[in-house]
Amino acid sequence: MIAEIMAIGDELTSGQRLDTNTQWLSQQLEALGIEVLFHTTVGDDLEANIQVIKNALARANLVISTGGLGPTDDDLTRQALANATSTELKLDAESLEHIQRRFTMRGREMPPKNQIQAMFPVGSRIIPNPNGTAPGIDLDYSVGLHHSRFIALPGVPAEMKEMWATTVVPSLAGKGTAKKIIRHHVVKCFGVGESHMEALLPDLIKRGREPRVGITVHQATISLRITATGQTAQQCEEAIADTVQQIQAAVGDLVFGEGEQELQDVVIRDLLARGETLATVESSTSGMLAFWLGTVDTDRQAFLGGTIEMPVELVSQESVEKAAVQARSVGNATYGLALGTLTKADSADQYYVALASKDGVESISSGLAGHPEIWGPRMAKQGLDLLRK
Ligand code: ATP
Ligand code: MG
Repeated sequence: MIAEIMAIGDELTSGQRLDTNTQWLSQQLEALGIEVLFHTTVGDDLEANIQVIKNALARANLVISTGGLGPTDDDLTRQALANATSTELKLDAESLEHIQRRFTMRGREMPPKNQIQAMFPVGSRIIPNPNGTAPGIDLDYSVGLHHSRFIALPGVPAEMKEMWATTVVPSLAGKGTAKKIIRHHVVKCFGVGESHMEALLPDLIKRGREPRVGITVHQATISLRITATGQTAQQCEEAIADTVQQIQAAVGDLVFGEGEQELQDVVIRDLLARGETLATVESSTSGMLAFWLGTVDTDRQAFLGGTIEMPVELVSQESVEKAAVQARSVGNATYGLALGTLTKADSADQYYVALASKDGVESISSGLAGHPEIWGPRMAKQGLDLLRK
């Protein structure tokens, strides 16, 4: 069973509105064990809609669309579906009554245009819309041995979700489509780049492996996303546990956490557990490190505070080390952490990270390549990583 989700509307293709329906429906289908292989977004154009509907019906067994069921000229889903499947549209008296009733309730007469919302491809099932005027359409379509089903829902997220839960989900379960269970788990790592990480995990990243492992990077943190498919939840969880072990064996202490965790969460948790404290000082990161730590440790039990120095103060390994020692003593903290950068006209720019503790100062420096949005978080996280280890 392969599913495709189709989002319809000029407001989506023009970038005026973010397509949240597709994200939501993908998560819903995945929870039902139905694999989503395609996302399509299309503007309000009849020919384009016919084309993408034909494509979807040919390559997927279940197509869910949202949008374009309204009464206006730019709402074309109904017509496009009829054309793509060479089906006639027929008026449904009951739906027409429902629409008329909704207008009467508000003391208005139904504009003639709205009659179109009571038109359905012959042979389709009607998905009631208790909260709006546009009912949904549920149409089976077969060519030779390939069977597919097209479910058209309105674009308004609240209406769509209600119809999905009330009518569509029971019909999917009844058909016995939800045979497989899918479970996700995310392993968080820091310390190497994406391609280096991939090289450390050649067998795990291989396509077609079960469970699947995917790599993504956000602000220098690597997420290894494990997707397990099985008959039972327990089977999935065992497969995930086994893969997590293999990751740990391959990359060791590059792994710092799981799920939504970031380095600052882990660092604060460990400091609190040991009854230790931290003070920071940074320059070119404009307080990013302090912001992260302060956001996690809101009652300031482990993170005592941070200062922002003028960039000119922290421009050498020595000055950054000194600042770390000073932050520690001024804050009367277990640790002092300092970040600084040096930009040079003639040679490679550098950043420095120093950690002071009762045992002295430890520091690292690295090339400052790319945009501040890239090196800033990396540098701040390198400081947190020193603390973690
Ligand atoms: P209606 O009966 O309300 O006209 P419709 O099926 O014609 O239903 P649209 O007119 O396409 O729906 O969209 C209605 C509202 O839902 C708009 O505000 C639109 O921006 C929003 N919407 C449409 N598609 C999406 C989507 N994929 N994600 C989030 N919002 C959406
Ligand atoms: Mg629309």
